[in-house]
Amino acid sequence: MMNADLRDLYQEVILDHSRKPRNFKPMSGATGFAKGANPLCGDECTIFTSVKDDLLQDLTFLGKGCAISQASASLMTQILKGKSRQTAEHLFNLMKKMVRDEATVSEIEELGKLTVLAGVKNFPSRVKCATLPWHTLMAALEHKSEPVTTE
Ligand code: ZN
Repeated sequence: MMNADLRDLYQEVILDHSRKPRNFKPMSGATGFAKGANPLCGDECTIFTSVKDDLLQDLTFLGKGCAISQASASLMTQILKGKSRQTAEHLFNLMKKMVRDEATVSEIEELGKLTVLAGVKNFPSRVKCATLPWHTLMAALEHKSEPVTTE
């Protein structure tokens, strides 16, 4: 059970990231990019990646939409910068478990700061807002040319 203060803190982090998104810029010389959309909510995002030796050396995004989608993209770029592709895929799997309320305590601990988005599990319509940037990142890493949609 989460106490009210902790819930407020999480809310604070989401608002902070949606108002002042980190790594919010296009990237010249990107090794990959992909566009994603969540038509149900109107969220859009473009993810730019620079991968070298299997490491995400740089990660930026552009987009618009609700606070959850923007904060999720901002947090994702912050957390994955400098991490391996494998770590990105692993954390995405844990994220998906968390928002479906299927993650174990140790998996939630592994998610670190990303747990501020755990609250979406109580709002099924917002789950796609939180996972859109991650789906889009995976497409950018796979060099898919088709735009990603959560539908
Ligand atoms: Zn949304």
